[in-house]
Amino acid sequence: MAVRPILLYPDPVLKTSAASVSPGDPAIARIIQDMLDTLQASLGVALAAPQIGCSVQIIVVDVSRKKGKTGHGLVVLLNPRIRHQEQERIIREGCLSVPDYTGNVLRYELAVVEGFSPEGTPVTLTTSGFEALAFQHELDHLNGMLFLDRIQSLDTDLFRRKQS
Ligand SMILES: [Zn+2]
Repeated sequence: MAVRPILLYPDPVLKTSAASVSPGDPAIARIIQDMLDTLQASLGVALAAPQIGCSVQIIVVDVSRKKGKTGHGLVVLLNPRIRHQEQERIIREGCLSVPDYTGNVLRYELAVVEGFSPEGTPVTLTTSGFEALAFQHELDHLNGMLFLDRIQSLDTDLFRRKQS
């Protein structure tokens, strides 16, 4: 169990497509625990394994960490895929790996996500709103993509966060 440093853009691991995993593999149990510990210690609602330096297809999402959001609560998903998405929207997004910026990106209001639980049980989740956006964002991390890659115009769609 350990809180790990979150890799920051432009770390090359963040640009790498992650490998699929075998549910039940003891090696991934430790990665999952580190992801949960690291998420808990962060201000974020979700994390993908590449963000802690493990290029494997694992995401953890818990939108209930944000006030007023519930969704499915804590979800750990292996080898996730988006099976269906609909209702395009432009949304301002941030990322723990890109702490100084937010950006406007095209996402979908509804997303059906499938994958496997850590024990290997097939999982299908119908998500909407903020939770759907979180899953789309984390899926991108597994494909070596950041929200920066989805921004259409660096002039009008990228915003520097206010210094705190
Ligand atoms: Zn991110």
